Amino acid sequence: MRRKLAAGNWKMHGTGADLAEVAALIAALPAQGAGPEVLICPPATLIHRMAQAAGGRIAIGGQDCHAEPAGAHTGDISAAMLAEAGASHVILGHSERRADHGESDAQIAAKARAAVAAGLVPVICLGETAAERDAGETLAVIDRQARGAIPDGLPAGRLVVAYEPVWAIGSGRTPTPDQIAEVHAHLRAHLAGRLGPGAQAVRLLYGGSVKPGNAAAIFALREVDGALVGGASLKAAEFGAIIAAL
Ligand code: PGA
Repeated sequence: MRRKLAAGNWKMHGTGADLAEVAALIAALPAQGAGPEVLICPPATLIHRMAQAAGGRIAIGGQDCHAEPAGAHTGDISAAMLAEAGASHVILGHSERRADHGESDAQIAAKARAAVAAGLVPVICLGETAAERDAGETLAVIDRQARGAIPDGLPAGRLVVAYEPVWAIGSGRTPTPDQIAEVHAHLRAHLAGRLGPGAQAVRLLYGGSVKPGNAAAIFALREVDGALVGGASLKAAEFGAIIAAL
């Protein structure tokens, strides 16, 4: 059985004052060990403080890491640095990083290897643009990104893949349940082709405009093991309602 995962991506939002939201979220969670695993990925500046405040009740993650362990890379953070600050996970290949920083699938795969080497669980993101969906290329894009960005040899039980259609992120638009189910089934088959039966241990998240009002319908789909939530993860009440639906 795969444990459900509710992951929050705070993006470039959050300062010390927002730790109060995490405290409120934790106070409203079911008893430790019950319910889904909860993860928040704040800006790097908050990882250490949030991990200390969370006291293990929720997991804390980074939003990116460098592929190398150290070096002359101004502004970058290594996987080991994230781990030392208190992170257990790291989001990799988010479409905003692909767009803003030109990240390629090969770079994302290298980052994923670095993350695993540092003991982090990589949350590898992929998804088609609106133009690619309109052109009927969605599954081909998913295959290409999965093949390129998910390296061989990762421990399946410590791998998370998030399907995030670019056009659904921050837009208030979501794919239909059938469209989500189709991509998730395709991803599971892709992984099974590469990992064999171990692919059953990989958790597949859906991300893109997940809200309290649509979460239950999305979570009811086969092969959806949770969500990667952006805007709705910033407020304890909203994220808590999504977690409750999982
Ligand atoms: P959103 O973002 O929930 O605000 O659409 C999701 C994401 O980018 O991970």
